[in-house]
Parts: sequence; C-alpha cells; structure tokens
Amino acid sequence: MIIVSACLAGYRCRYDGKTVPNEAIVALVKRGEAIPACPEMLGGLPCPRIPSERTADGTKVLAKDGRDVTEAFQRGAEETLRLARLYGCGHAILKARSPSCGYGKIYDGSFSGILREGSGVTAELLLENGITVEVKD
Ligand code: SF4
Repeated sequence: MIIVSACLAGYRCRYDGKTVPNEAIVALVKRGEAIPACPEMLGGLPCPRIPSERTADGTKVLAKDGRDVTEAFQRGAEETLRLARLYGCGHAILKARSPSCGYGKIYDGSFSGILREGSGVTAELLLENGITVEVKD
C-alpha cells in the first residue's frame, strides 16, 4: 500500500480550497492501492486556510499572517505516519514543494516563491521512519 497526498487524489484540501489531481494517483486510489491523507487537515487546520511555509532554519512553520502553526504541522505529520503504519505503507507519493508534503525542495519561508533545499514536516517524519518518499505535481 502507498500513502499519497490527498490533494493529488482529488480532495479539495489545499490551503485555497482547491485540488491538484494527478491522474495516476487517482487511479492508484481507485484500484485500492493507495490511501489518501492530508497532513495539514489531520493536524487540525481548516480548509481553506492561510498558506504557511517552513522557516529558513526549518525549526518552525509560520502562516503568512505570522501565526506559529508548527504544532499543527507536527501533529499532522504524526497522524499521517499513524495512517501509513495502519495500512502498512512502505512508500509515499506526496505533493511537491509543500511545507508538509514537499521533498528535496520547499519554499524558503519568505512567501515570495523562492525555493530552498529541504523537505516538508510530514515527508521528513515518514523518511525518518523508513518510508520512502517521492513527489509529484
Ligand atoms: S500538499 Fe499535503 S498538506 Fe498540502 S493540501 Fe496537499 S495533502 Fe494537504
């Protein structure tokens, strides 16, 4: 079983209330081969919500209005890991560049569209727990 970002599977769970469905991911879920999860909503954040980015040093996640949402992001990562374990997922396909789901490159915390090396809070936790991660748009 694979765990996937819910927004790639057609859920309207992005910060702007929209989805970014990826045909191959939707097909995986339909065939029962993947389970969708949205870490930010599992962490208790609403939808739509104010967008957030990890700070440059990676220690915090701040919403664009300055609110510290680190705890919600951590909780969402833990709940996503719980789901992945429950379903025996060894692999994750996540949404690129997200402060939760991104892997390898994420926005730099300045809300100006600049990318830096690094991963989202959930991608990081999954990797630390032996789950391989790839990203898609
Ligand atoms: S990128 Fe991750 S946290 Fe953001 S909406 Fe998609 S599933 Fe949710």
